[in-house]
Amino acid sequence: MSSFDFDFFVIGGGSGGVRAARMAAQRGVRVALAEALGTDGLGGTCVNVGCIPKKLYSYAAHYAEAFEESRGYGWEGAAPSLNWATLKANRAKEIARLNGVYGNLLRGSGVTVINGFAQLQDPHMVRVATLNADGSPGHQTLTARHILIATGGTPHVPHFQGREHVITSNEVFDLEPFPKRLLVVGGGYIACEFASIFNGLGAQVTQLYRGEQILRGFDDEIRHFLAGEMRKHGVDLRLNAGVVSIEREADGLHVLLEDGNRLVVDAALYATGRVPNVADLGLEAVGVVQSAQGAIVVDEHYRTNVPNIHALGDVTARVQLTPVALGEAMKLVDHLFGPATGKPPRDMHYDLIPTAVFTHPNIGTVGLTEAQAREQFGQIQVFRSEFRALKHTLSGSQERTLMKLLVDATTDRVVGLHMVGAEAGEIVQGFAVAMKAGATKAVFDSTIGIHPTAAEEFVTMREPAR
Ligand code: FAD
Ligand code: NDP
Repeated sequence: MSSFDFDFFVIGGGSGGVRAARMAAQRGVRVALAEALGTDGLGGTCVNVGCIPKKLYSYAAHYAEAFEESRGYGWEGAAPSLNWATLKANRAKEIARLNGVYGNLLRGSGVTVINGFAQLQDPHMVRVATLNADGSPGHQTLTARHILIATGGTPHVPHFQGREHVITSNEVFDLEPFPKRLLVVGGGYIACEFASIFNGLGAQVTQLYRGEQILRGFDDEIRHFLAGEMRKHGVDLRLNAGVVSIEREADGLHVLLEDGNRLVVDAALYATGRVPNVADLGLEAVGVVQSAQGAIVVDEHYRTNVPNIHALGDVTARVQLTPVALGEAMKLVDHLFGPATGKPPRDMHYDLIPTAVFTHPNIGTVGLTEAQAREQFGQIQVFRSEFRALKHTLSGSQERTLMKLLVDATTDRVVGLHMVGAEAGEIVQGFAVAMKAGATKAVFDSTIGIHPTAAEEFVTMREPAR
């Protein structure tokens, strides 16, 4: 392997790239990683403008309801008000700490970290635009036996009149001033999460979704139930709705809606999907095949049509979740450089990927939707429980919880498990293990509940609803 500068060159220091680089270095191979945003970018979308800051803001937003609900438990006094500047500053400090942790982990594993935008020159050569010691633009040209593209994705905003006035999830964390009136466009994970977050933080939120119901792809009953809960919490969710144009006026952004109505808001967040980050990567020059949407096309070992160039994570536009990018990275490294001593090579399965939507309340889900289960198995049993959580008997909150189990009637296997309710993400993670292990409804039934919890409902539902 010595004729190359490195054995493995990773482009992109996000979830997938960092994990792949670190694990490869632990196998003793010579690894370099280039990150376009420099050390501040280490950790990628998840750490800088995704999962982590989003969850921190979601925690912040949950305090609003906690203050409100505490009154039913006897707490008195004026509710605290939000200092948006403090929240932003504390988030930025924590993210900077995480950037540093990622840098240390990489360097500690022996990875050469290069700050700069990388571009493929040929199948084994990468040019990284760097800065010289005096701050002037420079570059390094390096060769590697294997190259991994883990450049993630970037928000996509459709073209319309006034597009220049909107922001995306990249800018939302540092909005200044706090948007008292916020428009959110989209009905996917990001739109629903930020509608909930800013509603909780005290903004008046209008969310527009172009279709019949938010969160296409999730279980229909769960989508419907969540929409109702979000509205109860105060989000003005409008379905079959969209924007015609946006104009900036002295009192805010004037939004003309498709139904002819107008809105005036302080900020408009477009969460209308993400596209693969492939601009200027040099893919065309090297002949790496992309899909019509720009996603890098890979085989089951994340290999592109150029045999020594691999790609994983969001740039392949499959399942855009951090744990998936991590799982793919570990599978790739074991495949290219061998598994860790004494361990079998890791594999990656795309069925039964648990996921949460950090709305208020959360969705937690794993396995098939009811419609998918019916299509796949024909005969299914649907177990369903809807209730007001014990906590809310005193809190005064009208929030309700929904839990659903879908069982293949022939084998008794639980093939879908869904929840809308507090801490659904935390609860469903554990049940995902049971489902990976092939648990049947009989196993669920024989499991002793933890009382009093909401989660125990998953093991105490006895009569199918249909
Ligand atoms: P990224 O993490 O995007 O990393 C790509 C890196 O490559 C970036 O740092 C970029 O600067 C760098 N780069 C790009 N081009 C170049 C180049 N040419 N040269 C050098 N460097 C380059 N997932 C979850 O599982 N849970 C969540 O709660 C969650 N919340 C999210 C919230 C938001 C608002 C968003 C946007 C995403 C969220 N995700 C969540 C998705 C998750 O962040 C992504 O799936 C994950 O980050 C993908 O990792 P990746 O390694 O593919 O890419
Ligand atoms: P999604 O693909 O989830 O949602 C995009 C939304 O925008 C959909 O409702 C879509 O509608 C709508 N949309 C697309 N194009 C237009 C348009 N031209 N006009 C109006 N609406 C439009 O993307 P997100 O940006 O929300 O998130 C990207 C990915 O990031 C997610 O899929 C997820 O994998 C990941 N993520 C994960 C999180 C988590 O794990 N908690 C949190 C945040 C992101 P339609 O459905 O009709 O196509």
